[in-house]
Amino acid sequence: MGLQMSHSNMQKKVKPCYGPLNDDDVDDHDNNDNGTSGSLALINPPVVASYDSWVMQHPSALDTFDSITKEAKWKKVVVFLDYDGTLSPIVEDPDKAFMSAEMRMAVREVAKCFPTSIISGRSREKVKEFVQLSNVYYAGSHGMDILAPPRAVKSSDKKANEGAFQPAKLYLPAIQEISVELEDTIRDIQGAMLEDNKFCISVHYRQVQPKDHEVLKQRVKSLVENRPDFRLTEGKMVLEVRPSIEWNKGDALNYLLDTLGFSNSKDVLPLYIGDDRTDEDAFKVIAGRHEGFPIIVSSIPKDTIAWYSLRDTSEVLAFLLRLAKWKKSETSFFK
Ligand SMILES: [Mg+2]
Repeated sequence: MGLQMSHSNMQKKVKPCYGPLNDDDVDDHDNNDNGTSGSLALINPPVVASYDSWVMQHPSALDTFDSITKEAKWKKVVVFLDYDGTLSPIVEDPDKAFMSAEMRMAVREVAKCFPTSIISGRSREKVKEFVQLSNVYYAGSHGMDILAPPRAVKSSDKKANEGAFQPAKLYLPAIQEISVELEDTIRDIQGAMLEDNKFCISVHYRQVQPKDHEVLKQRVKSLVENRPDFRLTEGKMVLEVRPSIEWNKGDALNYLLDTLGFSNSKDVLPLYIGDDRTDEDAFKVIAGRHEGFPIIVSSIPKDTIAWYSLRDTSEVLAFLLRLAKWKKSETSFFK
């Protein structure tokens, strides 16, 4: 049994002493030079952002599994999962971010036990194509395109359109326009790749030479600056251009909880697993509820609101399998 920490402790926890890291600062996070030397360095040793010290603040969801399930025992757990970097490994070609058969099976099992949604930056169609499961809810474009099964949609919900909720629908023509402009802007940058995620246009630069990163960022940034109806966010080697409406993965989480009929439940515990900056919005919603399980996937120390962590997709797989197994054993115990 590993480190355990109560929620009240987690909410009061002091953030680690290192600054925020970029998502891809994988190699240099423990080479910080804080300018100290000699005896001063002994008194105030250079801050080393080791995984071990970070995980003390964000304990492993596997090591704390027993305390998580103890808390969840009499509650309704609702599961939310990011896709890239959470259910599938990050790959060079975003079109090849396939999830393994084992992971698909694990998500299927979890979805049999708990209402389960996948909230991704990808288009809803694309993430559904990757996941290929019919027993989960899908939210694409960072939650700007949500499809809940008809039975979960209230007939009185005027926002619903055959089960789909698309708060940025009015922006679609403008999104197509800016997509054409972006394509033109990055055309001559080798390796740059545009991905149309319906309500969000992603500019991937994982395959762009490092010397061209800044040029690409500047070009995209200045293009978006001239379009007040859009804003720019950044993920792992990807720039994302999306409508400047106030809607993010946290809002999607709240919408899904509401649509699934849990908005007024006092005994709901949302569990969210994600690896990216955009997932922080969902972590924030859970932290604001003071209950639930915000879990970040990261193998490096990272500034996050999440209370728990998992190192990589293999740990996500282990956690999901264990979660489904636990729920099934609980259910069979009471039969
Ligand atoms: Mg992700």
